[in-house]
Amino acid sequence: NKRIRILDVPVDMVNNEQAMEIFKGLMERPGCDLIVTPNSEIVLNATRDEELKMLIEEAGLIIPDGIGLVYASKIVGEPLRERVTGVDFLNSILAYLEETGKSVYLLGSKPANEERPSVAALAGENMQIKYPKLKIAGTHDGYFKKHQEAELVREINESGADFLCAALGAPKQEKFIYEHRQEFTNIRAGIGVGGSLDVWAG
Ligand code: UDP
Repeated sequence: NKRIRILDVPVDMVNNEQAMEIFKGLMERPGCDLIVTPNSEIVLNATRDEELKMLIEEAGLIIPDGIGLVYASKIVGEPLRERVTGVDFLNSILAYLEETGKSVYLLGSKPANEERPSVAALAGENMQIKYPKLKIAGTHDGYFKKHQEAELVREINESGADFLCAALGAPKQEKFIYEHRQEFTNIRAGIGVGGSLDVWAG
């Protein structure tokens, strides 16, 4: 697997199939790996945000997201051959989790209100329509305070989830996974999915 650098920020040269091979490897080894899907804006932000730069450097998988990075890769002389879209990749992950009987924890987006359940709960229901055997270990909204994080990590651990989907907006979601990676007892990998739970919730 080849890792190139754009503005000195690393990016993996992978198509969807190669990304899934790396992903499966991460799911098979102990410890929580972070998967990041930087777009041009994140790459630019990483040049002036040390924690963001470091977490990308240490990520188990760095999938370039967005056409901007495809152009940038041509300028640095190592063109990315294919775009992996976040939507396709998340679908491939959910299909893999369903097939292998592994479970996902959905964290983030708006809490429940008088009219509807939380976005994460609705997203989970819709994921199970598309992937009927998918195990949703638990859900939690994305509006918590710093002092509530230890309790949240405990809930995620107690759910027994193998994989974490965090929809807190970038780079908050990546920082959450990175900062707590050593506290997760069962989570093998986590990914920031931005507004995807809203899309799944419909
Ligand atoms: N979000 C959250 N907690 C926060 C801020 C945002 O759960 O403190 C959720 C928000 O409800 C939305 C998702 O994060 O579902 C993505 O937010 P946004 O569109 O701002 O981020 P981006 O897609 O630009 O990463």
